[in-house]
Amino acid sequence: MAHVKKGDTVVVLSGKDKGKSGKVLQVWPDRERALVERVNLVKHFERKSQQAPAGGIVEREGSLALSKLALMCPRCQKPSRVGWLVSEGGDKQRICRRCKSTV
Ligand SMILES: [Zn+2]
Repeated sequence: MAHVKKGDTVVVLSGKDKGKSGKVLQVWPDRERALVERVNLVKHFERKSQQAPAGGIVEREGSLALSKLALMCPRCQKPSRVGWLVSEGGDKQRICRRCKSTV
């Protein structure tokens, strides 16, 4: 299971967008990549289409390696390492290693 999921707020730990934070739009756990709102913007050239009648250059989020992202803990409001709490039934819950709350 990935340490971040869709809807989380994350902070970028390295790369050109280091220090930026945003909301996770999508996660691909098998590829270990995620898309984060307004982070790692990449210019795309769009051809004229019904969605973009004028065509031209648009900026879109590019995917980032999950290892570069830290979860922004909603409780302590800090980028945190994630731990796992496994119940007797085998269910995994994420916990913030900083404040120990489930997230
Ligand atoms: Zn926390």
